[in-house]
Amino acid sequence: MSLTDLMSMAKPNLESREKILVKLIGKELLNCFQCIKCTSGCTALKLLELKPHEIVKLVSLGFVDELASSDIIWTCVTCLKCLQRCPRKASPYHVIIALRNLAVEREAKVPEGYLKAVSQIIETGLAESVQKVVTKKMETFDREGLKLPRITLPKESFQATFMKVMEER
Ligand code: SF4
Ligand code: SF4
Repeated sequence: MSLTDLMSMAKPNLESREKILVKLIGKELLNCFQCIKCTSGCTALKLLELKPHEIVKLVSLGFVDELASSDIIWTCVTCLKCLQRCPRKASPYHVIIALRNLAVEREAKVPEGYLKAVSQIIETGLAESVQKVVTKKMETFDREGLKLPRITLPKESFQATFMKVMEER
């Protein structure tokens, strides 16, 4: 569902808007003057139709509930280009992360890939599994073949700290 559809169907909720503004303290959300510099450089725009300037506008209007339950917030690839390009420090990136946190708090559906990444970090300490590399000559090497040191599994203390931080958030 596009954001335009969302806007036509939804009603603003000022209470949710206040909640998200609290999460965004220090981020100048309301300074956005819709110059669209963020969207013109957004990595996710071409493939996934993410328009960060619209997200910022919808949040400032109070359409937070709809965004928090929408798939669109999970299409951001967290490249931070919008943060770098914004002349007003409005940071659509931080708005999207705050919406994702709200979605998790509300137990909205989280894409499976994110849940897998979290399990992977807990088990291995790595956001991605170790992969082999393929050369131009189509030779395959693992870390041992490249004489790279072995990756050690995280200690239990890391897992306990990680879980504690997750619970606190
Ligand atoms: S968030 Fe920043 S870059 Fe994007 S439209 Fe607003 S002012 Fe422009
Ligand atoms: S951080 Fe997300 S919203 Fe910002 S430019 Fe990158 S993909 Fe787009």
